Amino acid sequence: MLKFYEAQDSLEARQLIDALAAHNVEATVLGEYLSGAAGELSAFNFPWIWLINNNDLDLAQTVLDGFLASRGSLPKAGPWVCTHCGAEVDAGFDICWQCGLQKK
Ligand SMILES: [Zn+2]
Repeated sequence: MLKFYEAQDSLEARQLIDALAAHNVEATVLGEYLSGAAGELSAFNFPWIWLINNNDLDLAQTVLDGFLASRGSLPKAGPWVCTHCGAEVDAGFDICWQCGLQKK
């Protein structure tokens, strides 16, 4: 088992699991908040995607890249992490405050 990706919500987790399954990558969701009422936000417990087989990491990363790119225009609700320097940037900003990288 390998901790792979923190999804924004259970819907994203499900979609990513499906995308991975389409490439024969076994994955599961842990830490999902199951007991909340419909529409209720759980800000403290995002679902984590775990890979069943550690050897699938490279392929899973490729699937994840495609998955994220395919929904590219959807704005994220939370802060984003700069792919260049790793700084966390507030959702309202499209440019990294630390290195100036444009958000993709
Ligand atoms: Zn940066």
